Amino acid sequence: MAGKFPCSEWSPLMEGEFRGIWVYLEVYRDGIHEASLQLLSKAREMADELETYLGGVLIGYEIDGYIDIAFEYGVDKLYIVDDERLKTYYPNLYGYVISDLCRAYKPEALLVGGTMRGRELAPNIANNLKTGITADLTMVSIDKEKRDIILIRPPFGAYMLAHIKTRWGKPVMGSVRPNVFPMPERIPGRRGEVIRYKPGKLPDPGMELIEKRDIVKAEEMPIEKARVIVSGGKGLGSKEGFKLLEELAEVLGGVVAGSRKAVDAGWIPHDKQVGQTGKTVKPDLYIAVGISGAAQHLFGIREAKVIVAINIDRDAPIFENADYGIVGDYREVLPLLYKHTLTLFQPSLYYLFPHH
Ligand SMILES: Cc1cc2nc3c(=O)[nH]c(=O)nc-3n(C[C@H](O)[C@H](O)[C@H](O)COP(=O)(O)OP(=O)(O)OC[C@H]3O[C@@H](n4cnc5c(N)ncnc54)[C@H](O)[C@@H]3O)c2cc1C
Repeated sequence: MAGKFPCSEWSPLMEGEFRGIWVYLEVYRDGIHEASLQLLSKAREMADELETYLGGVLIGYEIDGYIDIAFEYGVDKLYIVDDERLKTYYPNLYGYVISDLCRAYKPEALLVGGTMRGRELAPNIANNLKTGITADLTMVSIDKEKRDIILIRPPFGAYMLAHIKTRWGKPVMGSVRPNVFPMPERIPGRRGEVIRYKPGKLPDPGMELIEKRDIVKAEEMPIEKARVIVSGGKGLGSKEGFKLLEELAEVLGGVVAGSRKAVDAGWIPHDKQVGQTGKTVKPDLYIAVGISGAAQHLFGIREAKVIVAINIDRDAPIFENADYGIVGDYREVLPLLYKHTLTLFQPSLYYLFPHH
């Protein structure tokens, strides 16, 4: 093997038989992260194509309560590391344990949610195992005969797709943003095999948790979970324009989001950016106001059920992708839309505030 890899210290895990498509299941107080469960639908397809099993990885302390959910969403074999030392999430501890599991059970692929935790953990594991990782993959292609797993993602700033093959090292690793793949069907009562793993000595976390604070305000629904989104772009012309969007979002029971240009202009925070470098959303209703419909933006709304576009330019590309289009200045259209929505949903309020 000498001379095969870029440097002598670089020794990836590659000897032996690798089988199984694994998903790291992120556990929180209130359950398994939806982004992890969504990965199970793609992992199931991959496992079926390669005629292998779908593995789930559960790590933490007192986590047996999540076993049923994992199996019901499609896991065949569940690798559980339940250890008091893993009660608090530390990236290098969790990364160490998952790497250890991979060395012991040799999966051929490992998928991780593109969440805050996943983005931190995935490179840590890939570095431990000296394997490749494709961030934000959107598709997978499999060469069954060679057992090659090609992970596909849009490269930055180009209208093409990069097909990425990990030449050395196993497992092939990929992270996937929330809402890129659909939730798998839940089959109540479905069961699988439990494999419990006891890690030996763990590394020093190198940090200590002093205090934990929730950074998301309870009343603020994250855009990736919202059923109705009113989204604004550069066409709003100023931060003030977002006030009209907020009003409409409120009567529709939705949230406000924006395009990258709106974020870059400082009119809306980055955690509300929709698109390739923002978030992928899947609302029942997406209202795009003053948004031209660039490919990078459309990427983030392809799971939206109904898209309504409001744009002053009848040739704006967004209309090609919208279910309903309104050509007009948003300053005229939105107050009308607001008024009629209010009449439809909250007639009593309309009579209280007839000036809209
Ligand atoms: C690597 C890369 C990643 C990117 N990632 C993202 C991403 O995640 N999300 C994203 O959104 N973009 C992303 N972009 C940027 C993207 O290419 C576009 O530049 C951006 O989406 C355009 O934003 P916009 O539609 O708000 O602005 P514009 O393209 O400037 O469109 C403004 C629209 O408003 C309309 N308008 C103007 N005045 C009015 C009015 N009074 N009433 C109604 N309509 C009006 C105009 O007709 C126009 O269609 C990315 C680009 C690159 C290169």
